[in-house]
Formats: sequence, structure tokens, C-alpha cells
Amino acid sequence: MNSWLNIPSDSDFSIYNLPFGIFSIGRKSPRMGVRIGDFVIDMEQLRKFGLIEVPRNVCNQAYLNNFINLGKKKTNAVRLQLQEWLIKEKSPLKRYFKEAFYPIESVKMHLPVKVGDYTDFYSSLEHATNVGKMFRPDNPLVANWKYIPIAYHGRASSIVVSGTPVVRPKGQIKPADSLNPVFSPTKEMDFEVEIGAIIGKNSLLGENISTEDAENYIFGLVLFNDWSARDIQRWEYQPLGPFLGKNFASSISPWVVTLEALAHFRTATPVQDPLPLPYLAFEGKRNFDIKLAVNLITKDKKAYTISNTNFRYMYWNLAQQIAHHTINGCNLKIGDIIASGTISGPIPDSSGCLLELSIGGKQPIVLENNLERAFLEDGDTLTIGGFSEKDGIRVGFGEVSGEIVASR
Ligand code: CA
Repeated sequence: MNSWLNIPSDSDFSIYNLPFGIFSIGRKSPRMGVRIGDFVIDMEQLRKFGLIEVPRNVCNQAYLNNFINLGKKKTNAVRLQLQEWLIKEKSPLKRYFKEAFYPIESVKMHLPVKVGDYTDFYSSLEHATNVGKMFRPDNPLVANWKYIPIAYHGRASSIVVSGTPVVRPKGQIKPADSLNPVFSPTKEMDFEVEIGAIIGKNSLLGENISTEDAENYIFGLVLFNDWSARDIQRWEYQPLGPFLGKNFASSISPWVVTLEALAHFRTATPVQDPLPLPYLAFEGKRNFDIKLAVNLITKDKKAYTISNTNFRYMYWNLAQQIAHHTINGCNLKIGDIIASGTISGPIPDSSGCLLELSIGGKQPIVLENNLERAFLEDGDTLTIGGFSEKDGIRVGFGEVSGEIVASR
């Protein structure tokens, strides 16, 4: 497929992608857009010109929730219609190019969905094993891990869009050589490379979603950074799990890439041994080959790639996570985010957080001569990029980025 629009060949936002997001331009209120190459298409303008048929309260909203609520059949049709018009030489879009296409650098991106609830899984075998080794050298993988897709409920209010600065959190930390905790800004500021699934369909309280049906409940995916303060986390996490070491901020990429756009990049889930219980059994290719690169950009704007990993490594897939989440009758709602858990791989430098890359801070990673990092410093910007590529087709997410700023 080729478009009449000039799209850079290495663009994440090819004609095959067409992700949805919320943007604003000038003094206009935030509204729904579709990304193509280096342009954003103003969907409210297309609606006004009668090019897309959706209710009035869909494209002019500050969140995608109303659009998503139309259902996959409708939202897919809108995406495919745009795709057709971006290919066809005789396209009605050309007539409205000036009024509806904006260069990406002229717009501001916003949070794409109103997030009601956020769940964070822990589904990478490599991550769970590496971290487990640090906390429990004799018993890295706890007994339930290969039976249950482990998760905790996170905080939705502090999910922010890429580009939002992250204030270094303060709290209780307990130095290793002290009996008592002290109050301090975190000294172990970390990131976690994850993928977030945006829920696209409501389920009812008391209802279970099967692995077969689960993907019908996912509108699309975003890049997700679960910022983590390790020293705060270490002191607080027992017995109830993560709290203030996590809930000060999580960042997501602004463009929601639909599952349909990612269908070409499906891949097998790693072998699961022991076999999961029947409600977690699944068929077909349920993982996605999404390459993820982590860049640390220092205050003087120098960028260092510190990890390369891939969403395909995940032990538990999205379908299993959703089946597990609802097996007790818990309901899912449009706009909820299900994050994957830190994505670490089996090869060197494929770990998805500094805790692993620097072995708990004991072996700082070397960026260049006389420059190393055990954890993030104020002024560091952490950027995660992600894309799929196969048979010359590229579909990507752009990036999720955030700068660490000093505690207030
Ligand atoms: Ca996490």
C-alpha cells in the first residue's frame, strides 16, 4: 500500500498503522486525531465536512472513550475508510488538506483516554526471575508465578502523557546499614519498560471473559513506563505490595495503535510449562513482536541506548491476562489500562529496568568514560521507543518520554 501523502520510509506511522490520539492546536480545544507520517488528521473537521459518520460527541471530546464506545466494528471501519482515502489518488481528503491536516510539530498531544482503572501485571519470566534473585537468592521465582499471571491494582490518576516531567518522589527509605527508616528523596529512581493495553469494551460484574474472546476487549496498545522508586518500594512492599514507590507517575505514549494494525506482527507465546489451568489455555498466536529500545538522555542532550528488548518475550499473553483478571467476576471498563509488567528478555542488555541492568545498583551501567548510572539522576530523560517491522511493513508507537526533575 502506498499513500499520495509523503510518508518517510522509516516512519512508525505508516499507511498500515493509523493510530488514534487526542491533540490540540492553537486555542482549539483537545480533539481526536489520527496520525499519518508527520501529520495529524483532525477527525472533528472530517466529521464536520461529512467525511466520517459518527455521532457529534465523539471527535470533539478530550478523550477517546466515546469513540471507543462505538465498538470495534465502527472504529475499524473509520480507520479502514481513512486508509482507503489516503491511498486513492482521487481522494476527498485532498480537498480538505489545509483544514484537516496539521504538521505534527504544530500540535500538542494529550492523554488519549480517561483512565478509570489501571492494573499492572508482572508477566515477564526473565524480569520476575532476575528481580526475584536479588530479593530471594534461594527462591527467585515464587511458587505461584507459573500458575497465576500476577498483578496489582495501580493508580489511574497519576497516569500522564509522554513529555510530562516526573518529580523525584520523597518518602521513607531504609538504608541497608540502618535499623530505622529515614525520610529522603528516592536515591533509586528507575523506569520499567511495559506495553499498556487500552480496554475497548465494557464487561459486566460477575462475567468472565475467555481467552478466545479477550482480544475483542482490547482497543489498542500504547508504550507504558511504570516509574519506580526502588528504595521506597523495598521498604513498603511487604505485606501488601507496591504503593508509594509506584503511584507518583506512570507515563504512556500518546498514540493508541489498534490491535488490528498489529495483527501482521503476531507471534507465538513462549512454551508454558507447567500447562496453565484450563481457563488460561489459549489457541493461536497471542504475543506481538514489538521491538523496544530504551534511551537515556543526559542533561547535556547526549543519548545512550541502554536496553533493547521485545514484547514477544512475555510469558503470559494479553488474552491470558484478561481471562485471569475477570475469572473472579471483576468487570473491565472502556479506558482501563492493563499494563504488561516490565519486559525483559533472555539475551544480555534486554532487561527492562535499571534495577536489573545495574544488578540492584551494585554494577552501574557505563554510558561512556567516567559516566555511569546505577539509577536515574535529576535532569535525565528516559525515552522508550517501540515498533514492529516485517516484510517491509512498519507499524510503531513513536515514544514515551519523561524527564526526572528534582524533588520539591
Ligand atoms: Ca511494573
